[in-house]
Amino acid sequence: MKKLLLPVLFILLPFYLFSINISVRIYESDSIKNILLAPQSGSYLLIADGKLIDTITTANVFEIKDKDSLLVLRSLKGELGKFNSIQLKECRPDCSFNIKISLERTIRLYNDNIQISNTGGYLKMINMVELEHYIAGVVECEGGYNKSTEFYKAQAIICRTYALNNLAKHLGEYYELCDAVHCQVYKGMGDIPAITEAVESTKGLVIADSLKHLIDAAYFSNCGGYTLNSEDVWGRRFSYLHAVKDTFCMNQLHARWEKLFTLPDWNNYLDKKESALTKTDTRGEAYWDSIPEEKRVYLYDKGYLIPLKDIRMDLNLHSTYFKVIKKDNVITLRGRGNGHRVGFCQEGAMRMGQLGYTYLQILNFYYQGIQVTNYSALPLQAY
Ligand SMILES: [Zn+2]
Ligand SMILES: [Zn+2]
Repeated sequence: MKKLLLPVLFILLPFYLFSINISVRIYESDSIKNILLAPQSGSYLLIADGKLIDTITTANVFEIKDKDSLLVLRSLKGELGKFNSIQLKECRPDCSFNIKISLERTIRLYNDNIQISNTGGYLKMINMVELEHYIAGVVECEGGYNKSTEFYKAQAIICRTYALNNLAKHLGEYYELCDAVHCQVYKGMGDIPAITEAVESTKGLVIADSLKHLIDAAYFSNCGGYTLNSEDVWGRRFSYLHAVKDTFCMNQLHARWEKLFTLPDWNNYLDKKESALTKTDTRGEAYWDSIPEEKRVYLYDKGYLIPLKDIRMDLNLHSTYFKVIKKDNVITLRGRGNGHRVGFCQEGAMRMGQLGYTYLQILNFYYQGIQVTNYSALPLQAY
């Protein structure tokens, strides 16, 4: 008997490791007092304050709303009680449920389980979701429609790597990831078949560095022609986040932008900014009408070096890659790219996918010295 057990364990172990459930706070940025909740497929255990209330199916709809910092639960037949927490727990894998927020027209569909509690008079909703289900939803939000399969595969591997590498981002808040830009945008179950296929065909694959650690899988919309070194943007060097010349994104949607300011507004901004800085030496070139240097990280003005990333944040610019054009009383910032420009350029990768590059070629173009591997092959502390 013992002799049989060991091989069986070895066979089962990889499958066990493939399945990871994560907790994602949904509607994170909304203040919600009232929702409708209904199973979409399969059956669920309805549990309130740890006690089983009922087993429910697609015929059931519930209203949950805040009252005096408790959750009032109502079915179509009437009120079922007031509770601190309410949970839908799927009876078998791959069930799904709908949520409708009272003030929103759209209904969102989510996979797997949900747990609802009340924090300060608002509903706090945590989706306990299988990792691959979550990845399909995220790729849809972050990657969009009508892209090539190879792009979707690359994006899925990046989103999976990012998720597993950031499970401690909300440590102390009793969930692992939020559904906003702070983590990765996630609005429930994906419904694009090409994305579902790309997620399934790359199931479990992540990106690791040469030491078998998950990489910081940074990505953004469009680099404008050059990506940046991580150390020039974030002050920290990563061996796989090196600047690359990227011609693939040059004619894509977010390749170019312009923003106009009056000369007084622009000068006011620079004066205010410079008063907070220490004057540097007088070397450097005037920035007026100059061709932007692709890896430049400072704007030079009257002996001051102003970090471009500060200017981008202050003035809400698409990127730090721009030149300054002065004409009469108008300043035009003429820029390229969209995003922080470190790592994976999504629009360049989309174009690479169209041109027939594989997801491995795409990933190796934007991240250097990496390996794409199943996360079950990594040391446990790596994720
Ligand atoms: Zn977050
Ligand atoms: Zn690019």
